[in-house]
Amino acid sequence: MEIKKFGVIGSGTMGNGIAQVAAFSGLKVTIVDISEEQLKRAMATIEKSLSKFVEKGKITKEKKEETLKNLNTTTNIEDIKDVDFVVEAVFENYEVKKSIFEKLDGMLRDGVIIGTNTSSISITKLAANTKRPDKVIGMHFMNPVPIMKLVEIIRGIATSDETFKITKELAEKFGKVPVEVNDFPGFVSNRVLLPMINEAIYALMEGVGTPEAIDTVMKLGMNHPMGPLTLADFIGLDVCLDIMNVLYEGFKDPKYRPCPLLQKMVDAGYLGRKSGKGFYDYSKK
Ligand code: NAD
Repeated sequence: MEIKKFGVIGSGTMGNGIAQVAAFSGLKVTIVDISEEQLKRAMATIEKSLSKFVEKGKITKEKKEETLKNLNTTTNIEDIKDVDFVVEAVFENYEVKKSIFEKLDGMLRDGVIIGTNTSSISITKLAANTKRPDKVIGMHFMNPVPIMKLVEIIRGIATSDETFKITKELAEKFGKVPVEVNDFPGFVSNRVLLPMINEAIYALMEGVGTPEAIDTVMKLGMNHPMGPLTLADFIGLDVCLDIMNVLYEGFKDPKYRPCPLLQKMVDAGYLGRKSGKGFYDYSKK
């Protein structure tokens, strides 16, 4: 079955990026959100992002217009009942995602694949809320979606080979590089990244070095484009803490315990860039 119509649920940071790359690849895309205002913001973000590509000479004005014409928005999830593929990108909350999965399962044609952009919720557990667990798969895009090449494709315990193949080909159509991984807490990306960030926070807490020293060692010594504490501020310290807790609870292994300083900063409301303060001060920028 050829995929022509594509649904995205959630029009936040990730949803609008996913919608943009899908529309750019030629699919007819409908974005669903509970908030009309958020949908307007998403369309403005997409417009701005495409304009930047035009300014840089990476795409033509015509391609930008064509991409925008492929996009539709709605607050009624029923409007996507005849799509050929759906990716869910709503808040990282199991109950919210569960209710969407149940709704989609009852509404979509039997063969339609449901992808999820979750960073940390089990694909297998989400799939168990449907009668099509073989057609549920993780499609973990990276932020910002139009720029970042990777899509981690996560197979739940019941995901079929056919579902994997279709999803992989779709990611390639979007100009991405798909990497196959299996469903364990944190998948590969967060399983490897977050313990490194957590360790950098331990190093800071123990006075091994200042934030600048820790970040500079990792940047200049390991060739990382961004130090781990700068990256943590960028991701959001609340998100980092949530993911560490997913690893800790998922593996029941103390090596994943969140650093007490991370917990303390989140308790204080120091969430990184978005709150103006994290390991660095952003209040003047
Ligand atoms: P976000 O908060 O920016 O956006 C979430 C959107 O979902 C909001 O617009 C909200 O109105 C909408 N929404 C909530 N409930 C809904 C419902 N019932 N129906 C329709 N829309 C609903 O979130 P985000 O950062 O885009 O994250 C989305 C998903 O992507 C999460 O699962 C997150 O873990 C994952 N993810 C995020 C990042 C990142 O860097 N932000 C990276 C990779 C994966």
